[in-house]
Amino acid sequence: MSRADLEKLITTVQQNNPNADVGLIERAYTFAETAHSEQTRSSGDPYIIHPVAAAQTLAEMKLDDSTIAAALLHDVVDDTPFTVEDIKNEFGEEIAFLVDGVTKLGKIKYRGEERHVENLRKMFLAMAQDIRVVLIKLADRMHNMETLSALPEQKQYRIALETLEVYAPLASRLGMGELKSRLDDLAFPYVYPEEYKLLLSKIGDLYEKREAYLEKVKPILYAILDKENVHPLAVHARAKHYYSLWQKMHRLNMEIDKIYDLVALRIIVKDIPACYETLGIIHKYWKPLPGRIKDYIALPKPNGYRSLHTTVFCEDGVITELQIRTQEMHQEAEYGIVAHWNYEEEGKPDHGSITSRKLRWVKQLSEWQHETQGTDEFLDALKIDFFRERIFVFTPKGDVIELPEGATPLDFAFAIHSQIGEQASGARINDKFVGLDTPLRNGDVVEIIVQKGKKPSQQLMEVAKTTAARSHLRKSLRSQGIELAPKKEPVRVEMILGVENRVGLLKDVTATLAKFGVNIIKIEGSEKKNLAEINIVANISSKQDLPRIIVRLKKINGVADIKSRFV
Ligand code: MN
Repeated sequence: MSRADLEKLITTVQQNNPNADVGLIERAYTFAETAHSEQTRSSGDPYIIHPVAAAQTLAEMKLDDSTIAAALLHDVVDDTPFTVEDIKNEFGEEIAFLVDGVTKLGKIKYRGEERHVENLRKMFLAMAQDIRVVLIKLADRMHNMETLSALPEQKQYRIALETLEVYAPLASRLGMGELKSRLDDLAFPYVYPEEYKLLLSKIGDLYEKREAYLEKVKPILYAILDKENVHPLAVHARAKHYYSLWQKMHRLNMEIDKIYDLVALRIIVKDIPACYETLGIIHKYWKPLPGRIKDYIALPKPNGYRSLHTTVFCEDGVITELQIRTQEMHQEAEYGIVAHWNYEEEGKPDHGSITSRKLRWVKQLSEWQHETQGTDEFLDALKIDFFRERIFVFTPKGDVIELPEGATPLDFAFAIHSQIGEQASGARINDKFVGLDTPLRNGDVVEIIVQKGKKPSQQLMEVAKTTAARSHLRKSLRSQGIELAPKKEPVRVEMILGVENRVGLLKDVTATLAKFGVNIIKIEGSEKKNLAEINIVANISSKQDLPRIIVRLKKINGVADIKSRFV
């Protein structure tokens, strides 16, 4: 039964990584099978086929043992009596962390609020903390989509819509084009059944015809290239995915026979010079359509996609799109961020350039989060810390509100509406009553208790952390004739940081202090073997700020400990 699936999984794992810990995979399988033994899928199948399918997807992406084991265990905490603690005892910290992450992400639900969907995607990454958690979740969703027909109709629509709006764009953001298209195509018929049917009727047997035509072109292409001494590694016909075809037709209001890349010919060659050479040869034999030559090698798409595209009058004058790329570009286009760390793990010789390309992905992700600064430091590609200074919380209706770290329910209230901020008298976080000054955490569901006619008091200035909330408050207080107390005298503090020195460390420290508006009076460093000390004397605006400043400083890579005192 599913033992065969396990054997297939192990074969894939061993093919991609001969040093893989097969024992670990087997133990995780046995644990999951036992834990889920009482359950079946809606289809009636034993539950274990689902985690095994997710693990298989990840094994094909060449992910590491821990990720694959965690994929096998990903539903154990949510659906069985076992806890994260049990997983930790059995499989250690790392796998428990991954499973816990996937379980937490499972609680994020898209409820069809278009204007908050971007925040929801960011929240997803912020909560995942480790990109492998997102990958497990994507593999999980892939199998759920493949088996969606077994669910009741209402659920089908919700899950498919969420896939289209949240999961597929996330896969795209990570550069995983293949995964994105598969998710899109699985969701399409459930979300837009009428459009899907219409598209199928328009397509008719076009795909088959085009594929048959390209099979005829292939040997001619090989012969042409051979004559010019170019030997492609592979040539394949590539059918355009349904959902992207639909979007293209919809967007351009085009007739289907004007879409030249319905089925395109993809040519894989050994290196970049060979890409341009191939393009030149093709244009020598088949005339290109003007304005349709695209050099995504010199100018990659925003998601990092690289290839040369051209559309030519091919054999018998049939207009045909050709795409030319290297094997590595191909891997990147299919697997995105994952392709990079596979290359690196294999220890390919051009380590330097790969690192810089991996960095490009990291940069692209972080550009998405426009507030992020200082990506010049190389960030660990597995860690998603672009969002470390932002948190994402829910309204009771499921809208996602983005706030800075340390924000309170009062900031949340002002972010919703100034009137709610002014009349806020208390809050409930995850159904518990709390004060307006309670710090919010990622994923909290926040509800504001409003008292009609209430006027804000001056004390709330201490509670409001965001600029927006503070300026609203100030305005409202002034309208009540309350003059704000003059600014308090700053407090002087001395901090001694024990650090493991590295390039850029001092810059990170001063940048962090600047974010808190700390006025540095004196800063000096001293070296003691490999450990060093940074001594800082500074003015901060209030004593209460110090713990937060210290917490933030401790997060900086290289800062080992901090001593502080008021002077
Ligand atoms: Mn699952």
